[in-house]
Amino acid sequence: MTDPSTQADDVGEMMEAVSESCVYCRCGCCKDGCPVYEEVLEESMSPKGRNELIRAVLKGIVEPDERAMRIAYSCLLCRRDEESCGARLKNSEAVEQFRAFLLRRGLEMLPEHRDLANSLRNYGNPWGQARSSRKRWASAATWSQRAPQPGSNLLFVGCTFALDRSLLATPRAVASIMDKTGGSFQVMLEDEVCCGSTIKRIGEERMFSELRKANCESILFSGARRVVTPCSGCYKTIAQDYGDMLQGVEVMHSTQYILEVLRSQRLRVAGLDATVTYHDPCHLGRYAGIYDEPREILGFISGLSLVEMRNSRELSMCCGGGGGVKTAYGDLSLRVARKRVREAERTGASILVTACPFCVQTLSAASESLDSSVTVEEISVLVDRLSADGGGGES
Ligand code: SF4
Ligand code: SF4
Repeated sequence: MTDPSTQADDVGEMMEAVSESCVYCRCGCCKDGCPVYEEVLEESMSPKGRNELIRAVLKGIVEPDERAMRIAYSCLLCRRDEESCGARLKNSEAVEQFRAFLLRRGLEMLPEHRDLANSLRNYGNPWGQARSSRKRWASAATWSQRAPQPGSNLLFVGCTFALDRSLLATPRAVASIMDKTGGSFQVMLEDEVCCGSTIKRIGEERMFSELRKANCESILFSGARRVVTPCSGCYKTIAQDYGDMLQGVEVMHSTQYILEVLRSQRLRVAGLDATVTYHDPCHLGRYAGIYDEPREILGFISGLSLVEMRNSRELSMCCGGGGGVKTAYGDLSLRVARKRVREAERTGASILVTACPFCVQTLSAASESLDSSVTVEEISVLVDRLSADGGGGES
């Protein structure tokens, strides 16, 4: 339990996050486009309802309990509502802070999230897999492993791409692209631990700090000048939530790297006669403003026709995999993902391209469950299979 002065600071910070403008307005415009509210149609699970709960708890009108926890953890942290709020309130930030606040007050983590936290504590990843499993993606590598050099690029794979067997093609594709484009690069394999994104979104601050420290030490020790990651969650977390702990190290998403090598003609891609739509991952789009790079990459592929979904770029709808919702509310997550796949189908595209492991997981599962004509493909895998000597195949 925290001491009273710390508790007062906590309340002050939270009050700032849930700005007073919402108190006066309470218009509910933010419900427009909230994928969770659209599915459940319950005011308490809308951004407006969650703000009301946060204020009631902070003012001492409501004692936080299990129901409050359930409501706090029903948010995808996708920030779609902020595009509809005239006051541009940062509701996701408030929810993330509120979750941490509830845990600091001694409330129990949701049982669905407890396994994930235990796995992080024991193995350094949320998927319950041994640390040595992180090497799996590199076992069938066709790229030549050069001796790392100070100042080189470092490929930070992330837990989900490294440990989900259905996603191994992505780290292999990114490594293959980095290999083909010349410079030496390093991989951390079992020295990499979770970036801490998942546990930070859940509100467990201490564990996040430990993971951040471990990764920063390894990255700085490597002497790398740039960290390149194909995971949108890792990118957002390392670039924005690691603060200045990685001073002097540039953090890039793989789409930024791929665009750079395409523009400089260090990488060339063959054509593809296909209609494709692109899904903006929330961590890459609304959180980091990376909307143009993936589209520009697709523009390098001759014959490819890019068609936009009704909700794209800033207005893109979440895949359903964010904010710990998939773990706590699996059915809700799938419903949100299915809606997104239906949106993709309406464009007439045969391929739904995206740039995040969680989006690939949720949208692929939704596409399969709908027996959809749309297949999901991660952007590095697409680029690598169209580039000369592509080496990012399935295991
Ligand atoms: S972040 Fe997403 S799920 Fe959460 S309230 Fe906003 S729109 Fe809804
Ligand atoms: S749209 Fe903005 S001001 Fe209106 S209720 Fe939602 S968060 Fe509050």
